[in-house]
Amino acid sequence: MNEQLFERAKQIIPAGVNSPVRAFGSVGGIPRFIAKAQGAHVWDANGTQYIDYVGSWGTAIVGHAHPEVVEAVQAAALGGLSFGAPTEGEIAIAEEIAKIVPSVQRLRLVSSGTEATMTAIRLARGYTGRDKIVKFEGCYHGHSDSLLVKAGSGLLTFGNPSSAGVPSDLTQHTIVLPYNDVAALKQAFDELGEQIAGVILEPIAGNMNLVRATPEFVQTLRQVTEQNGAVLIYDEVMTGFRVALGGAQSLHGITPDLTTMGKVIGGGMPLAAFGGKKEIMDCISPLGGVYQAGTLSGNPVAVAAGLKTLEIIQRPDFYENLSARTQQLAQGLTSAAQASGVDFCADSVGGMFGLYFAQQFPQTYADMMASNVDGFKQFFHAMLNKNVAFGPSAYEAGFVSAAHTPELIEETIEIAKHVFAQMK
Ligand code: PMP
Repeated sequence: MNEQLFERAKQIIPAGVNSPVRAFGSVGGIPRFIAKAQGAHVWDANGTQYIDYVGSWGTAIVGHAHPEVVEAVQAAALGGLSFGAPTEGEIAIAEEIAKIVPSVQRLRLVSSGTEATMTAIRLARGYTGRDKIVKFEGCYHGHSDSLLVKAGSGLLTFGNPSSAGVPSDLTQHTIVLPYNDVAALKQAFDELGEQIAGVILEPIAGNMNLVRATPEFVQTLRQVTEQNGAVLIYDEVMTGFRVALGGAQSLHGITPDLTTMGKVIGGGMPLAAFGGKKEIMDCISPLGGVYQAGTLSGNPVAVAAGLKTLEIIQRPDFYENLSARTQQLAQGLTSAAQASGVDFCADSVGGMFGLYFAQQFPQTYADMMASNVDGFKQFFHAMLNKNVAFGPSAYEAGFVSAAHTPELIEETIEIAKHVFAQMK
């Protein structure tokens, strides 16, 4: 069935998918067409059940189709799908986010992470009156033109340093620096500090697999941006409400000027946001001259899903349990690999994890590129054949949800023991 659907899809949708990594391009084979999802599981078109560690790329933190979230969505839908006018729900979710993430004094809702980051850099440029943006190698911030330079995710998978169709006139304002390289960062600010509008960072990178920013790196970043009047943007589309309730900024003890969010805040519906300092956010239209808009921005059904999800994740012990399960997975897989003598290690932060076919955790994009991609492919397919679905690329982070019980994690580790033993 998956084969037939893939063939049919390719006749009408380029590569058969609406987002590149889904095509299994870097791992080979046939993508599974998902028919339904519930809790920690997804089912493909054949009715085959998988333990799912993709979680809609991090959105499904409370588990797929959580009954309370579905109920909230149904109730909202009955009241109308979209109005193109303000609603009370939008105020409620903005207030809730600001309560959880104190760096957010003002917030705007949009429909995708790409919109959030695109607008955040426009805002940084509009606020400072400068053009240059700094980003880091291997970090992905959505597919807006200025940010499609040495980006991660599907772009790493396909080995494109950038995208066709992006004028170099646009990317010439984007400075790309190596991740975790304090010296390169200082040098860039020494040379160009007065021209830099802002720096955008994945504070724990998840689009070149999971790579943690070092404390020295983020502290230096906060210092040089402050000293030079540049806007520090934490792109927490993936890490927000995922690595901890308050996101990576709460773990780093850093107050960014702007934060972008997505995934978890929509609870599986298209919802994202950017927010931060009042002074900067007030530059947005119609208060200020920086334009941003959206027909579906703050969509009432998406907001209802998001509000319920934010309520669930604030219940007692939510993150303690989520982190413990994710650690159990990372440690269990590492022990299983070691027992078979496979070069492998795994790291986790909150409900996000990285699997590396390497002896050490990567610190940079170059480290990640040096890992054993063939080992990942072998592992990925062997696990998928035994009904465990990891993301179909060596460069993606993985995700655990509240629905992943200790028993399901243990089952995953048992399966991995056999897989690693055969890899050896
Ligand atoms: N920023 C980061 C850190 C992301 O991980 C992603 C998507 N994975 C985006 C931005 C873009 O979000 P979206 O896919 O919703 O446009």
